Amino acid sequence: MLKNGIGAINILELRAEVLYRILVGVAIFFVLYLVSTYNYLLFHSVAEVFSIVIAMGIFMVAWNTRKFMNNDYFLFVGISYHFIAILDLIHTFTYKGMGVIPVPDANAATQLWIAARYMQAISLFIAPVFLRKKINPILTFFIYLIISGLIIISVLYWRNFPVSFIEGSGLTQFKIISEYIISLILIATAIILINKRKNFDKTVMSYIIVSLLLTVASEIFFTFYISVYGISNMFGHLLKIAAFYYFYKAIIQIGLEKPFDLLFLDLKRKGNQLIQQKEKVEQYINLADIIFLVLDPQQKVTLINNKGCKILGYKKSEIIGSNWIKSFTPKRDRKKVQSVFNKLLKGKENAIHYFENPILTKSGEERIIAWHNSYIKNNHGKTVSVLSSGEDITDRKRMEKALRESERNYRKLFENQLHGIVLCKIITNKHNDPVNYVYVNANQAFEKYTGIKRKDILGKTVTEVIPGIREDAFNPIKTYGNVALTGKEFRLERFHKYFKRWYQEYVYSPKKGYFIIMFSEITKKMELEKRKNDFISIASHELKTPVTSIKIFSQILKKRLAKMNDEKDLHILSSLNDQVDRLSVLVNDLLDVSRIDDGKMVFNKKVFDLDRLIKKTILDFQSITDTHEIIKNGELNVKVIGDESRISQVLSNLISNAIKYSPNGKKVIVHLKNEIGQAIIGVEDFGHGIEKYDQQKIFGRFYRSENVSRNGYSGFGLGLYIASEIVKRHDGKIWIESEVGKGSKFYFSLPVNS
Ligand code: ADP
Repeated sequence: MLKNGIGAINILELRAEVLYRILVGVAIFFVLYLVSTYNYLLFHSVAEVFSIVIAMGIFMVAWNTRKFMNNDYFLFVGISYHFIAILDLIHTFTYKGMGVIPVPDANAATQLWIAARYMQAISLFIAPVFLRKKINPILTFFIYLIISGLIIISVLYWRNFPVSFIEGSGLTQFKIISEYIISLILIATAIILINKRKNFDKTVMSYIIVSLLLTVASEIFFTFYISVYGISNMFGHLLKIAAFYYFYKAIIQIGLEKPFDLLFLDLKRKGNQLIQQKEKVEQYINLADIIFLVLDPQQKVTLINNKGCKILGYKKSEIIGSNWIKSFTPKRDRKKVQSVFNKLLKGKENAIHYFENPILTKSGEERIIAWHNSYIKNNHGKTVSVLSSGEDITDRKRMEKALRESERNYRKLFENQLHGIVLCKIITNKHNDPVNYVYVNANQAFEKYTGIKRKDILGKTVTEVIPGIREDAFNPIKTYGNVALTGKEFRLERFHKYFKRWYQEYVYSPKKGYFIIMFSEITKKMELEKRKNDFISIASHELKTPVTSIKIFSQILKKRLAKMNDEKDLHILSSLNDQVDRLSVLVNDLLDVSRIDDGKMVFNKKVFDLDRLIKKTILDFQSITDTHEIIKNGELNVKVIGDESRISQVLSNLISNAIKYSPNGKKVIVHLKNEIGQAIIGVEDFGHGIEKYDQQKIFGRFYRSENVSRNGYSGFGLGLYIASEIVKRHDGKIWIESEVGKGSKFYFSLPVNS
């Protein structure tokens, strides 16, 4: 309702204004008519002066706004109107009865009139050319000046301008035809303009067309007056006033009130494009993931994008207009930022092109921003705006800090490791085979364990550091190169020929093409081990012969005592025999260990029936055991390749352990099964079981679990070691499943001979 009411009021107001204008127009015309009846000369002068003033106005506007206009149509019309006005002025001065410039009759004024109209019509006709083309304003001005000068001289001095009015008979043929020609030119001009209407604002266009048509109408009246004071002359002048009024409306009034309408649509379109571009740029700025900030010289925010608002946590309206440094910079940084800002104001962009500083958000949190700064200067070289784009680098900075810290920690760890660590980069040939490696980094312990200073090797190749490396049977370049290229890590103990030391190494690749050796020196341990091995070897060999002799002698003695029925001594001898047996087992085990160490354990391998061997071993055991029942569970029906006695040794060891470590168990079960090309033999007991911790270690030399040694079970911890070595040498595996208090299952597998 309210809206309609307002609409109705607007329409009413508009109508009233139109009515008012019509009334004013009619009133002016009426007054002019009265003036013409009172004094025609006065009427003529007023009418002409009116059009002259407008024409001059057109010129002034066109001339002074020429720099802002995108096409020269208006400038050209403007220049032409300047000279039309001059011709019209002299026409007014020479008008019959004026007496300002003495002329004999009304011919001169009529000639100047027709010349001015020709100039007007032709100029308007040509003008549309300059919608696209540029003109040289000064040159155009001079051309018009010369043409106008020639016309005036021709009319007033040379008097060779075609006669236009003859006192008494009225208008000449030339004048009448000219008015028609002028009318035709104006109509053609109107048609051309209508065709080019897209270049003009609608209102401006309609005013120009109305003006052209009114001029045509006025021309028609001028074709048939006889007296220059006559009625048709008066109507002609009234229409001319109306025509100029519309030109006035079109160009001066609209030009001043609504410059866009006048500066043709081209300009308007450009303006629209500019607005669109501005909006687009604003959109981009708002979409950007960095802050855009514009400050005026008083540090007030004049522009900030969405990202900026988001980081600060304020609404745009809360930020715009506020003092940037005071509102959004932490107190301690204000001085520094202020000095940067001052430098920018002075135009010292380079000095602080990049700048990092924290900003204060609404929540009181500080965010670190990396700013790129620039400035805009006005025509006088004064900085009017400071432009900054800022990236929130808080997280990056935090990460960098964390990274630095972690790097520092790692470096510390690396440096203070007890193990020697060395990082190397492998060098390959064109077939991608490792041919050398470069020392990239090494820690302190490296120096300690190798006796080499880091500075002497870093950046150097191994062949430079150790010239004889290629002769080393271990082939470090190839072995380590494989790790670097395949990523397959390994551990080993080796004697380093160059350093003459033993090392335990763990080699892995942190990154393709690189490898790291983490190592510790074990020379002392290896020397001890060697001594121990030597001892075992010597002791076992030295003990072997006497033990065998004792055994033989004790058996001979046993036979003798049996004959003599000496029960008492026989019993003692039997105990001696048992101890000698134990001793001989130990000596044999030690001998085996030293053979394994020296790589001298010989296997007499041949194909044999595994079931038969197992059955025999079980029977042998059962014949000397009455505490446990040894049960065979399953059948293998396979043959294997191997040393029968050694495999029997493995099984015997497992069964004897099963019996030994399950004193309360009534049975031992030997499980037999086949699994994809493997014969698996398992020995199960229901005894003490083995702790998880011990399970890893019991296959090692001399290892015994704590509880068994504590409970007084005899043994040296060698049986399982020897068994595992034998199984390994038969390409088999040995493993354990056990639960403390429930019992153990020892398994070993052997590849089946297919
Ligand atoms: P030994 O029996 O002479 O000590 P072994 O090498 O045969 O040496 O066994 C190593 C250790 O493994 C034993 O000392 C014992 O602690 C543990 N062990 C072996 N077999 C069994 C089993 N069947 N049950 C529980 N513990 C066992």
